[in-house]
Amino acid sequence: MNDEFHIHHFVEDGMNSDTTVQQVTQFREIFGDKFQVGVSLARYTSARVGGPAEMFVVVKRAKGLQTAVSLAYNCNIPYFILGGGSNILVSDAGISGLVIMNKAKAVSFRHSGAHMVCTAESGMNLSSLARQCIAKGLGGLEWAIGVPGTVGGAVVGNSGAHGGDMNGNLLAATIWEPGKGARVYSNEEMQYAYRDSALKREQSRPVSRRVVLTAELKLTPEPVEVLMARAEGFTARRKQTQPAGASVGSMFKTRLIITPVISLNRPD
Ligand SMILES: Cc1cc2nc3c(=O)[nH]c(=O)nc-3n(C[C@H](O)[C@H](O)[C@H](O)COP(=O)(O)OP(=O)(O)OC[C@H]3O[C@@H](n4cnc5c(N)ncnc54)[C@H](O)[C@@H]3O)c2cc1C
Repeated sequence: MNDEFHIHHFVEDGMNSDTTVQQVTQFREIFGDKFQVGVSLARYTSARVGGPAEMFVVVKRAKGLQTAVSLAYNCNIPYFILGGGSNILVSDAGISGLVIMNKAKAVSFRHSGAHMVCTAESGMNLSSLARQCIAKGLGGLEWAIGVPGTVGGAVVGNSGAHGGDMNGNLLAATIWEPGKGARVYSNEEMQYAYRDSALKREQSRPVSRRVVLTAELKLTPEPVEVLMARAEGFTARRKQTQPAGASVGSMFKTRLIITPVISLNRPD
């Protein structure tokens, strides 16, 4: 697909609007070849189905995520954050506006009294982060071994397994809000419930959703062997109960939203 045309999309009030060649040029100037138009999303979702993103950008740092989403918002372009694609179904019609593929993966650790705090960018793979923590002798995130997706997706959906969940780990999250910018949210402000949060409840909005940039997770020092044994137990249990290969997992609830994407919700 080439850019020499007007890309049609819908703005929040339901009016039809045009994304101009100038806007495409603006994105391309900032993001270079990380920005493309007409990218098939099928290969980026666990379900391996779905049409194209009208516009698509890959971001590698939280700052880039904020830049992309701010620019889309300022240009009145609907945006959709794509994490690991493990809890969405994209229709064959694709997604209007900008899909931001979140590959912001920086992670750091600091002491906080008897605990450690891990600050992870929201595009970090959750399962990889859990493995990294285990290798460092930091306990608390073993439940996340084998849970597909990103830290951001887990913060939004309050992912969990084996009795743990994001609510139990999250101390705070830096979240960008349309028209307001980024600020730190406390755990309480996330209003967590079972596989649900304040952010997830607003997902039915076609645009103007809040975006998780980074998350601060509480961890507790424990012997590596203990953590590894616990993680292996969880992995064995998952292997017994879930099929291998491409899968959408087991869904028990779907939430239909106006953009042609369905967010899934499933039991552990
Ligand atoms: C085989 C399989 C097994 C699974 N097992 C479990 C399980 O045991 N426990 C469990 O809880 N879940 C499970 N899931 C579901 C999935 O792993 C979680 O829902 C996961 O947290 C989704 O993260 P993601 O990055 O893939 O999100 P995506 O699917 O990419 O996105 C989901 C939603 O979150 C939004 N989003 C993503 N990142 C951000 C961000 N940074 N800021 C704002 N919004 C964002 C997206 O826009 C979208 O609306 C499973 C899924 C599969 C396919």
